Amino acid sequence: MKFNIFVILAGCFMGTTAAMAVGLYGDTPDANHAWAVHDWNRPLPEKITADAGKPPSDAVVLFDGSNLDGWVNSRPRGGPASWKIVEGGAVEVVPRSGAIKTIQAFGDCQLHIEWASPRQIKGEGQGRGNSGVFLMGKYEVQVLDSYDSVTYPDGQASAIYAENPPLVNACRPSGEWQTYDIIFHQPLWDGDKLLYHGSITVLHNGVLTQDHWEMEGMATHCRRKSLAPHADKLPLSLQEHGNSTRFRNIWIREIPSRYANTTHGGVAACEKDVMALRQKTAKVLFAKADPSDSNKKAALDRMLEVISYDKSAEYMKIVDDLSKAYIAELDALSGEKIKSKKGDVLSVKRNCDVLTRNKVVPAAFPLNVEIIKVIKANGFDRKKR
Ligand code: MG
Repeated sequence: MKFNIFVILAGCFMGTTAAMAVGLYGDTPDANHAWAVHDWNRPLPEKITADAGKPPSDAVVLFDGSNLDGWVNSRPRGGPASWKIVEGGAVEVVPRSGAIKTIQAFGDCQLHIEWASPRQIKGEGQGRGNSGVFLMGKYEVQVLDSYDSVTYPDGQASAIYAENPPLVNACRPSGEWQTYDIIFHQPLWDGDKLLYHGSITVLHNGVLTQDHWEMEGMATHCRRKSLAPHADKLPLSLQEHGNSTRFRNIWIREIPSRYANTTHGGVAACEKDVMALRQKTAKVLFAKADPSDSNKKAALDRMLEVISYDKSAEYMKIVDDLSKAYIAELDALSGEKIKSKKGDVLSVKRNCDVLTRNKVVPAAFPLNVEIIKVIKANGFDRKKR
């Protein structure tokens, strides 16, 4: 909550139990941001366990060396995955058996996968240890033994196949285990209109090889294949390309769209989602506010926060009524009683300043105008000598 950053309340709000600062403080939500700067209403990130050498506690383990229960053959007839479990907690591609894919479908994700080309070096170029990680079954990060074998750059290990070569060749010697850590965001569409190309970031053996590459199309060979709308979640697949490549330690974490809370990046069509989230937060805050609170200042503070998310006519009318009531209460005070309200009055002015600075309300906002009058009339703006 945000009303006054100097007031710390212990309590439970929106699923958190931490002590929270309240008060309008940082810049408010706007067309591009669902949350204010330093917004205490924003959900705290989920706490997970991330022990070295183990999948994070929120990961879906797709292969731990024991079985392929989470996988099926990609071929139309499907069925249990035909690749074979081998020593070392690995699974090996069975040539001519076809690709395999996960039963579970995924969208935006972080993927960890380890692979090794055959120990016995065979073939050249695209024929040496070829496989591939197909995100959503449609976007390929190439798997290939490129340690000592040359092929076209947009087809070597860690390339976005047929689109973008890796920044460097980070391959380990043939047959050695290698890692891919991939961060993938799918394209965004509004009907048939492409809003965002999506992106793939790849760390190959810990080295950045694809730096947030925005996809041009879908997996292809020789000819370019444009992006096209598809389901939000699809299986992950691994390619069979006639070579006995091995895989192990495969886990995946689903991650939110980069545009879940913000239009940062210029995806203006996401503004409706930002506004929907703001309205949702305003509703939660309004349900906790009590406009009939006998403490008019407290009620006003809460409602000023509500309108920083959503200036609906209903909320603005309540703010207007509370403002009038609060100012009337102040005007009725005199002498020491009004002096004792100096801190409250200046705090209301600070809230008005945040709202006017962010153009939530104009400078001519009645509460702002009236509170300035109270400040001047009582010398609250004078500095102590
Ligand atoms: Mg391939």
